[in-house]
Amino acid sequence: MKTIYNFSAGPAVLHHSVIRSTANAANNFNNSGMSLMEMSHRSKPVVDMVNETEELSRELLHIPKEFEVLFLQGGASLQFSMIPMNLLIKDAVADYTDTGSWSYKALNQAKLFGKVNIASSSRTSNYSFIPKELNQLSESIYLHITSNNTIYGTQWKEFPKPLNSSGFLVADMSSDIFSRPLNFDNFGLIYAGAQKNIGPAGATIVLIRKDILKDIDRKIPDMLSYRIHIEKNSMFNTPPVMSIYAINCSLKWLKSVGGVESINKNNLTKAKLLYSEINRNSLFQSPIAKEDRSLMNIPFIFNEEIKEDENIFLEFCDKRGLKTLKGHRSVGGFRASIYNAMPLRGVEALINAMQDYEKLIPRH
Ligand SMILES: *Cc1c(COP(=O)(O)O)cnc(C)c1O
Repeated sequence: MKTIYNFSAGPAVLHHSVIRSTANAANNFNNSGMSLMEMSHRSKPVVDMVNETEELSRELLHIPKEFEVLFLQGGASLQFSMIPMNLLIKDAVADYTDTGSWSYKALNQAKLFGKVNIASSSRTSNYSFIPKELNQLSESIYLHITSNNTIYGTQWKEFPKPLNSSGFLVADMSSDIFSRPLNFDNFGLIYAGAQKNIGPAGATIVLIRKDILKDIDRKIPDMLSYRIHIEKNSMFNTPPVMSIYAINCSLKWLKSVGGVESINKNNLTKAKLLYSEINRNSLFQSPIAKEDRSLMNIPFIFNEEIKEDENIFLEFCDKRGLKTLKGHRSVGGFRASIYNAMPLRGVEALINAMQDYEKLIPRH
């Protein structure tokens, strides 16, 4: 079989060992003779596996013990609602930074439950940079950020601080969790859909500091209550066990290659190579402000004077096994998502394709 490199933004590339182990577990979990899909989530092997996944998360990210680790459903999108529903007392305010389509969706959901102060926005610049001057309100309960903007390819390199001394940061880390070391100071809640960097769709990881849950003047359905999920250890209802298992395998793989600190170095190397090719190649450019460029999602477009059909370059890449490079419709051009599991070889193959394509296009 020809080697395929999948540059999809999500669901995204997983290491082949993760896919193999998950397939084996679907067939026969831990030599039990049963598929993991047909096993009770209350059975010891499954409970042990979920607990081990939590332990691996704690170990790899150095999660402080004040934080609970939850595996929920509904994707990052449900967190857009659960966060304000659980944390934003009626008439209270939260600060939101508007740095991309996902943050915009998050802040619009928060408006259903309380007041939202848009502390900064790059919406009118098609989100091509991250504004770092924030207009926070002193009474805000929390400050929400999207650590990595998957669609636009920007990433917070240094996290802002909440203005309110009893406030905390809430971050959507769907597309860069476990890609770099994290300092948990100031954070109250971190969430991520698994299907970008750590697994398949179906599970959402939530890291939540218990003390941010205050009594709130609102009835919260059990299924949407962090308190209930914490009390029940992510087993209030049937959890997405297969998906959690794939996360488990993915974290074991990450540990085997040296953990978050070491993968961060790889991620830096891969991104640096690709950005320098985009910069060098006469066909391409980056639409993103230099200091905010993401290590995970790298959009690039043709230079203005290049009047080539984008689809022809996409087909050229596709024939070489370089898949899913089409840019998001709101940016156009191309986007290479080079998450943890994208090997350096994949990035090199893309760079070769860009160089070969440049030779094919007549001089301009
Ligand atoms: C993909 C993505 C989402 C949406 O995730 P779902 O799991 O589909 O709800 C939210 N935020 C960011 C940053 C994303 O990349």
